[in-house]
Amino acid sequence: MCRVEFIDNLIHSLYPNLCPGCHSIMPNKNMVICTNCELNLPVTNYYQMKDNPVAKLFWGKIIIENAASYLMFNKKGTVQSMMHQMKYFGNKEIGIYLGRKFGKDLFNSEFIEGVEGVIPLPLHPRRLAMRGYNQSEYIAMGLKESLNIPLWNHAVERVVNNISQTKVSTSDRHDNVKDIFGLKKNHELTGKHVLIVDDTITTGATLLSLGSLLQKELNCKISFATIASVV
Ligand SMILES: [Zn+2]
Repeated sequence: MCRVEFIDNLIHSLYPNLCPGCHSIMPNKNMVICTNCELNLPVTNYYQMKDNPVAKLFWGKIIIENAASYLMFNKKGTVQSMMHQMKYFGNKEIGIYLGRKFGKDLFNSEFIEGVEGVIPLPLHPRRLAMRGYNQSEYIAMGLKESLNIPLWNHAVERVVNNISQTKVSTSDRHDNVKDIFGLKKNHELTGKHVLIVDDTITTGATLLSLGSLLQKELNCKISFATIASVV
């Protein structure tokens, strides 16, 4: 963490009613992000385009139904800041809030037609114990609420604690996440159309790994949704 980030995070822990996107003071303690950030969310609307840049990441690798991200990741911008607060500083409300907003957009869209449940990308138990929560689970909770479909958060597990994808080169990312997921017993996902959810998509390698497993082992139909996209 650089010095500026450290100071930002220190300020946030001292003043919890600062907007996690732009760090301005929010007038109401119940607000998750400020009005200005909400009005200026860099929405991609990828879900309205079948062949969008996120879907293209999976071409030639897996047959999917749909893939989309809600927001464009903006380095050193509001989205990066919100993702950072959500992943590393316990702001779970952002996950629920953005998941709910994304779900409202997806509701009644072609993108979501036929989707039967939401699966958050699981963390390895060791990482979960360190962080205390899985941010993707909170995004999935928001989506579940807006879409009114089940949340399957105990169907799959992460069996290998791979090193962070941000620490390996783009070309090595596929190998880093190969065979890192496993199926849990008593699942009822066979043949289901599942929406696999993560916070940010870069190369799509981790989502691909879980999607391939569910497709191969349980004949699932696969769609992917993330909050932020770098593509
Ligand atoms: Zn703001």
